[in-house]
Amino acid sequence: MDTEQPTAEIPTEPVILPRAEHTISRKQIDENSLKVLYRLRRHGYKAYLVGGGVRDLLLGRTPKDFDVGTDATPNQVKKLFRNCFLVGRRFRLAHIRFAGGSLIEVATFRRQATEEDRPEDPSLNPFYAENLFGTPRQDAFRRDFTINALFYDIEDFSIIDHVGGLRDLRDQRLRVIGDPLVRFAEDPVRMLRALEFVARLGFSLDETAREAIYLRSALIAEAAPARLREELMELFRHKVAGHVFANAQGLGLLEYIIPGYQAGPGTLALLDAIDRRTAAGQPVTESLVLAALYYEIFSAGLVAAGDLPIGEVLGRAAKLLIPHCLHFHIASGIRHQAAELLVGCYRLQRGPGRRGQQRFVRHPSFAAALAFYQLCCEAGQGDVELLSAWRQSLTETPKEAPRKRPRRRRRRRKPASSPSQS
Ligand code: ATP
Ligand code: MG
Repeated sequence: MDTEQPTAEIPTEPVILPRAEHTISRKQIDENSLKVLYRLRRHGYKAYLVGGGVRDLLLGRTPKDFDVGTDATPNQVKKLFRNCFLVGRRFRLAHIRFAGGSLIEVATFRRQATEEDRPEDPSLNPFYAENLFGTPRQDAFRRDFTINALFYDIEDFSIIDHVGGLRDLRDQRLRVIGDPLVRFAEDPVRMLRALEFVARLGFSLDETAREAIYLRSALIAEAAPARLREELMELFRHKVAGHVFANAQGLGLLEYIIPGYQAGPGTLALLDAIDRRTAAGQPVTESLVLAALYYEIFSAGLVAAGDLPIGEVLGRAAKLLIPHCLHFHIASGIRHQAAELLVGCYRLQRGPGRRGQQRFVRHPSFAAALAFYQLCCEAGQGDVELLSAWRQSLTETPKEAPRKRPRRRRRRRKPASSPSQS
């Protein structure tokens, strides 16, 4: 595909905003990124700030990180920086590490692969398409969305826009570079990223992109599960999981991201509750995410089953979580924690005052289950009165009977024949 063909929407010439016409100042850019940019520049290479950092600065947001684009090859970058490591099998990058653990990613400008670039036997070099170096303009066109393809040039502090990203930033619109049908077929994970950025930035999704997601949704089933797992956790970290799951489900994408999965209204409300909690500063774990994704289905299955032994309930939780965890290669420890949250909710649902209640309250999983159940209640998925009854019972539950003095381990009396040591 030639994404460089100018269209009605894509300008033939880049728009260049000189320093006086934009708001990005060097004070906003982290010191280590500036060091990298200046050093590349001093050695005669082009050096741009690229990607999400430029986008976020122009939107007045704090960037998560700053990425650098350059025409120096990874090996040339390595020669310039002592603290540089080349990484990435799929996408070769230079990582420059600084004291204090900060890390700057430097990528050589790349271009989109064409038919001619295809090696005779791609299996010998499966990532050839990701590593074809190109011009800055080509590098802008191989990126995913127009707002993610802006460059900040350290040479004169201007912003360079090859793809109409400045206009889309102004109009608060997320637009794919090139034909969305083609770009989503190339890399189906872009469909999920599109929904993520729309939610994070509060932008509208360009109509052609929306239609293309609807038409191409099934392709995402072929994406590497490890990548999807990571992107899904990103949604939670960015507090947009509820929004994106609802959108992805509406467009028919969700069932291909998590094979066969359907999020009920209760689940979507629960994800919203998690997002609100994350926004309030609480970290989100993968076990919590897993429990939230399956809580509604799990509870529905138990309603009809009546009172069950806990072992059986645990078995049901595991059975529900195993296919998901196998697909995404999620470790059994995480699965186990998620199952404990689900079973903990079941025990909470039975109410305080049952036999074994005190043992449950002292169990290490109790606090997490109670916090999770509170989220369920916030999402209309739990019994609020039951929750306060538990809270009340907690204040009344005696801690394990306090002992006056720490128990001394009694020494076993030694057989008379052994020599005394004291
Ligand atoms: P943030 O880091 O805030 O989530 P970002 O835009 O920096 O957002 P990254 O995932 O860090 O996103 O990627 C950096 C840049 O690399 C993007 O801005 C985009 O230009 C490009 N990019 C990332 N993923 C893709 C992709 N799948 N296809 C094309 N370009 C991509
Ligand atoms: Mg980034």
